[in-house]
Amino acid sequence: MADPVEEIVAPFPETVEEIREAGGEAFKFCYQCGKCDVVCPWNRVRRFSIRRIIAEASYGLTEIENDDVWRCTTCGTCPQQCPRGVKQVELGVAIRRVASKYDVFTASARPARAVRASLTIDGNPLNEPRARRADWAAGLDVKPFTEGMDLLYFVGCYFAYDPRLKKVAAATADILNRAGVSFGILGEKENCCGESIRKTGAEQLFRSLARENIKTFVDHGVRKILVSSPHCYHTLKNEYPEFMVNFEVVHISQLLLDLVRQGRLRFSGEVRKRVTYHDPCYLGRHNGVYDAPREVLAAIPGLELVEMASARQDSLCCGGGGGRIWMDTPRTERFSELRLDQARDAGAEILATACPYCITMFEDTRAGREDESLPPINDITELVKEAL
Ligand code: SF4
Ligand code: SF4
Repeated sequence: MADPVEEIVAPFPETVEEIREAGGEAFKFCYQCGKCDVVCPWNRVRRFSIRRIIAEASYGLTEIENDDVWRCTTCGTCPQQCPRGVKQVELGVAIRRVASKYDVFTASARPARAVRASLTIDGNPLNEPRARRADWAAGLDVKPFTEGMDLLYFVGCYFAYDPRLKKVAAATADILNRAGVSFGILGEKENCCGESIRKTGAEQLFRSLARENIKTFVDHGVRKILVSSPHCYHTLKNEYPEFMVNFEVVHISQLLLDLVRQGRLRFSGEVRKRVTYHDPCYLGRHNGVYDAPREVLAAIPGLELVEMASARQDSLCCGGGGGRIWMDTPRTERFSELRLDQARDAGAEILATACPYCITMFEDTRAGREDESLPPINDITELVKEAL
């Protein structure tokens, strides 16, 4: 007689194999302790179980048409807690690769599929023309990158196109010029870094964006790259080496701290405000950069730094990672709503961060709430510029 358990456990053995091949094989180490679910931010706003997704994957029971496949923001909180080294983020991405292969996208995930066309045609996820990628720099002292400059400023899609975030790119350029850093940009030759689209399972598109960027870097003699986005930082630093290249990559928070320490940024003004700093997942948990942005803020005259209830390794995700920035999330289920409450409860007059997704999510929440008690949002570069 056939073992009834055997019949239940592997109705789709090919799915198990596909997930394994797509990079999710660490699911086999899971012993279902549930620590991942306890720390997952989704469980602050609705029911969601990554533990269950892992169990289903190991039994070949994954339903790729389930919305939960698209829920993980890749925030990196649960891998920190897992006693068995199960790579939940990689597993989730592996399942999305399988869903992408069969072109199965739930209604909430469909916008993430739509951005693939924009990335393929124009190299950005915002449906903006490639030719306008350097428009943010019009009228500013920003030159095209040439070999011999100190660094390439790899601006990133949101800072190049989004009206709110263009101000951050402009502040960055201003600070670099005042500090005497020689830098240039690639303009329309810059592509999206590809980090977030990769997390939605579009592996080939990621590889093609990365290859084009790498070719452009090599053709221009780039050695050191400055980025404003933790997502660009993560992929250029940790994922582009998969293509056998190694560029020096620095996040703006790290460069600002260097400039402050070298005495190249002299503050003549002040920001007399109580400020709290939100750790972006891809700067903090994924890359361990917790101190540089705080030290930069602390160096600004008049600024008082306060911490929120969830900080550093325990920082609460904004909800925009893993391609969720492009997906539909009901307001009642947005982590950013909770984060703004935490900032207000910490007594902050400004919520500072260093990531375009965090700023986008927080600005959207603040605009939607119309609650004067919620603090305004700033990138750390904007506060530095204000005090120069
Ligand atoms: S914390 Fe790790 S071992 Fe425990 S249920 Fe989650 S994935 Fe499995
Ligand atoms: S990485 Fe973050 S969002 Fe994804 S399952 Fe783990 S805790 Fe939840």
